Amino acid sequence: MMKRLLILGGTGEAVQLAAQTANLPGLETITALAGRTSQPGAVSSAVRMGGFGGETGLIEYLQTMEIDLLIDATHPFAAQISWNAAGAAARVGIPRLMLIRPGWERLSLDNWIEVESIERAVTAIPATAKRIFLTIGRQQLAPFGCLTDRWCLIRSIDPPGADIILPPGKLLLDRGPFSLAQERQLLRDYQIQAIVSKNSGGDATYAKIMAARELGIPVVTIQRPIAPEGDRVENVSDSIAWLRDKL
Ligand code: NAP
Repeated sequence: MMKRLLILGGTGEAVQLAAQTANLPGLETITALAGRTSQPGAVSSAVRMGGFGGETGLIEYLQTMEIDLLIDATHPFAAQISWNAAGAAARVGIPRLMLIRPGWERLSLDNWIEVESIERAVTAIPATAKRIFLTIGRQQLAPFGCLTDRWCLIRSIDPPGADIILPPGKLLLDRGPFSLAQERQLLRDYQIQAIVSKNSGGDATYAKIMAARELGIPVVTIQRPIAPEGDRVENVSDSIAWLRDKL
């Protein structure tokens, strides 16, 4: 009998996973996207756009759409949807897998200042650093508005909301992957003295960490939020193995 899989997306891995599930007989896939980016990359499965309306809304969706399997392939920093998914899958009684790419490991030459939240990142920026590179996306920039005595290069895919007060600096709209040569040049061109980054993991945005290491620039690294308990894998091929086991 045909089974229906819901992938919670918003990452490159979710896109790859959706593509690979097309080769699994007996499986029909829907990818759910929050709709945060104005022009998301192409997804080869059916796509559902927009929030569900909290855990209750997700429960209703899983039931109405008769979803049999759930893979949470959201970004490691998208904690709310992961907790909603955990609660909803348990309630409906369907198997749930989390696909969470490993975080970046600090190497001996890295000058990382590890913090547990965006708010802590603001105060952890070294006082001597006057030119900052903020690469945390566009959704949580508000706490940096108080950095009125610094100059910030802010990079995001889409522009931040018009109501957000940004620190002095420049907005750079760009989408990864970024190469080491590009990132090295960027840090030099803008004379960056400190970087603020989430520990997102993965290859697409790792080059800034490598460039910072080369140039001896400190990186305020925001640690990941706590993920729910449950089955988890680190890559797409292990997700496919989990799926095969469930079919
Ligand atoms: P979040 O805080 O965990 O989620 C906030 C709300 O957005 C959720 O409660 C849900 O709304 C909706 N939502 C999130 N992911 C969804 C999905 N895949 N499909 C349908 N609805 C979803 O998430 P976020 O940090 O705002 O991130 C939003 C999306 O961007 C995620 O899909 C994530 O994978 C992607 N992303 C996030 C980051 C990051 O740094 N946070 C980076 C890259 C990509 P309802 O409660 O109404 O269901």
